[in-house]
Amino acid sequence: MGRYIGSVCKRCRREGVKLFLKGERCNSGKCSLAKRENPPGMHNWRKGKLSDYGVRFREKQKVKRYYGVYDRQFKNYFALATKQRGNSGENLLVLLERRLDNVVCRGSLAASRPQARQFINHGHILVNGKKVDIPSFLVKEGDVITHVNHEISKKMIQQVYESLAAREVPSWIQKTPDKAEIKITHLPVRAEIGLEINDQHIVEFCAR
Ligand code: SF4
Repeated sequence: MGRYIGSVCKRCRREGVKLFLKGERCNSGKCSLAKRENPPGMHNWRKGKLSDYGVRFREKQKVKRYYGVYDRQFKNYFALATKQRGNSGENLLVLLERRLDNVVCRGSLAASRPQARQFINHGHILVNGKKVDIPSFLVKEGDVITHVNHEISKKMIQQVYESLAAREVPSWIQKTPDKAEIKITHLPVRAEIGLEINDQHIVEFCAR
């Protein structure tokens, strides 16, 4: 599947929830979802009750779009989640939450997941002192994430970090106050992810 190059705000309007794809704009009055709640398309008046399949499909799409993963990657995460002990839906969300692009965004080193992916792909991010340019890299407990020691990276990421000082950071990530560096204190549990998603619907969809 190719990369989506359309309006990302349409994706939020389709799902009817904020997917936070545009950084700080998402928390401002400029958010498209706040202005227009109807789904995109000319025939949005043709709203009917979703089938059971439709409900489950939309729930899966919501998670996929929130974390910015493609279908094949999502299937791989689900396969991995089912092999782990415990609830597959929770395991799936924890795996997605541990992605480096998500952690960079959640830890305020980037304003959004797409920006975090760009920083990682362009080689600006270090994990435990080593450059990592794979957005799907899974972080583990104790990992320290910061930027490379290069003037451009330092200036760019430090600026974002300072501008997002007021953003709430999840309890499993610890910020360093005076420099753009974050630490994974422990791996997240479902209650700390805080995403309003019906995990069971996703499991039922993926296990068909
Ligand atoms: Fe979604 Fe952000 Fe656009 Fe609002 S501004 S519709 S949350 S991407």
